[in-house]
Amino acid sequence: MPMTWEKDLKPIYSPDDFHWGKLKADPDKCTGEKCGLCIENCPFDTWEIDENYIPKMKENWPCFSCYNCMVACPEDAISIIESYHVDSGFWKTLPGPLPARTPLEPRDAEGKSDQWNAGEKVIFMRRSVRNFSDKPVPEHLIKRVLEAGRFAPSAGNTQPWKFIVVTNKDFKKNAI
Ligand code: SF4
Ligand code: SF4
Repeated sequence: MPMTWEKDLKPIYSPDDFHWGKLKADPDKCTGEKCGLCIENCPFDTWEIDENYIPKMKENWPCFSCYNCMVACPEDAISIIESYHVDSGFWKTLPGPLPARTPLEPRDAEGKSDQWNAGEKVIFMRRSVRNFSDKPVPEHLIKRVLEAGRFAPSAGNTQPWKFIVVTNKDFKKNAI
């Protein structure tokens, strides 16, 4: 039987019973609209300035709990009330534990404070980005990404994968 959007795909790609993340800015710590780094760094444009010039989240606006805003805030003024979660179905997930778990401070073999190494920095500083520009990704960069992917671990280094790059927007739209 062919798959349908309503019955088969919608519950996966567009579940109804999800909860956007909720955060708040502490007015006693926030330095106000002159800073605005939380607003600038939210990929979903979720923050706005309230009547007291303190950022607040827009009503019923997307927040996927990426915490870019918290990381960007120089005053540690933003805290989490509830993290993004889905109640049932394919993406069912419990709300993330609070407070959010940050990486443990790096230590050397003697237990002394240490620096992150290059690999750790890549992992810990990676941010989720879901706002994309309309500009096509240049071909040389696509090739570099694929080349890095090709070197992912595989049994016996057989690299048994094939990559298909789709750049035609109409094709992508019709494929869903
Ligand atoms: S957690 Fe992410 S999506 Fe949510 S308000 Fe902050 S920056 Fe925006
Ligand atoms: S980043 Fe922090 S200090 Fe700056 S406006 Fe946002 S909440 Fe206030």
